[in-house]
Amino acid sequence: MKFQDYPTQALMNITARPPVVFTRGEGAWLWDHTGRRYLDFVQGWAVNALGHSPRCIVDALAAQAPRLITPSPAFFNETSLELAALLTHHSCMDQVFFANTGAEANEGAIKLARKWGRVRKHGAYEIITFVNSFHGRTLATMSASGKPGWDTMFAPQVPGFPKAILNDLASVAALVNERTVAIMLEPVQGEGGVNCATPAFMHGLRELANRHQILLICDEVQTGMGRLGTLFGYQHFGIEPDIMTLGKGIGGGVPLAALLAKQDVCVFEHGDQGGTYNGNPLMAAVGLAVLREMLKPDFLPHVRAMGEYLSLRLTALSAARGLGEERGIGLLRALELNGDRGAALVAYARDSLAGAPGWENTGLLLNSPRPSCLRFMPALNVSREEIDLMLDGLAVALDHA
Ligand code: PMP
Repeated sequence: MKFQDYPTQALMNITARPPVVFTRGEGAWLWDHTGRRYLDFVQGWAVNALGHSPRCIVDALAAQAPRLITPSPAFFNETSLELAALLTHHSCMDQVFFANTGAEANEGAIKLARKWGRVRKHGAYEIITFVNSFHGRTLATMSASGKPGWDTMFAPQVPGFPKAILNDLASVAALVNERTVAIMLEPVQGEGGVNCATPAFMHGLRELANRHQILLICDEVQTGMGRLGTLFGYQHFGIEPDIMTLGKGIGGGVPLAALLAKQDVCVFEHGDQGGTYNGNPLMAAVGLAVLREMLKPDFLPHVRAMGEYLSLRLTALSAARGLGEERGIGLLRALELNGDRGAALVAYARDSLAGAPGWENTGLLLNSPRPSCLRFMPALNVSREEIDLMLDGLAVALDHA
């Protein structure tokens, strides 16, 4: 089928999509409607933690679908109970509420914090969030986000999200008052361009929160589930949040997310929170399969080793080409470019590598969260050879774009 023959006008035009239609994926590779293949270092936006269509997810869906898909979130089901027990066993959290998207999990975290403020802290409701943060696309999570321009896009905003500066503890302390109920942050700002909180800052936030008896909320939609080389991002920093949200990697590509909290923060009463698909056993079965894979002894050491290798190779490339800073934790990394070349490099790598040796009928998918940088978020089981191949394609793109 030709691209022009697809009914693309039937979809709302919400982003500039390239003129390809993806039809198949396997591991680190995607294939489009013409049979052209792409080495995928975007992986559904840091979602496919185990690559495209891994056997364990295919098997989990095939085994669960004929047994039970959705009984209703108002009933228990075995799979979500098992996943909740495993998540709480391996984290510092005590209870889970399953959601479908990261934004929904964060929306739940905001509601939980506000409820806690109402019952435990004289109606406190303000949640301090950060400039350049990203928490989702619902009205409240857009208001919590510190993305430039988002304050006016769908005005009026949901009030109660004063903004501090990442790694500037004084900027947070200055915003704390009697209305403050929580501090909410991504341990590494993903969409903001892979801006890492420092361990000192995370410890400072924990102390500040303790001192004022306010909650610390980690949005681990991008940093959780192995991405930073630890099962949850907070473990990398050696602190414990009171509330954590998970998304993306927890479902390995299917819509699954989670809101987790410590016992004394779990103040929802009947009727406060819910949702038709929340905790459905089909998605929970996938979550279980993904988590069991990540708990295998070699999984996280592999993420750390590949993160270090990717970092080394990008650092060497940067030195050789006069590019900027390489940064990140685990397999969430970014490279500063010399100038606003991000979009051009992404387009060239995707569409125009085919002339280079080894890249016949092959493209490379990269991401540029800001005009001056590239972000790398491969599958967590990426191989050294796939990293080498990506670097090879990136070097060609840097020569031409
Ligand atoms: N939080 C963070 C840190 C994210 O990176 C994202 C998605 N990029 C979200 C929340 C929103 O997740 P979703 O798109 O699943 O709603």
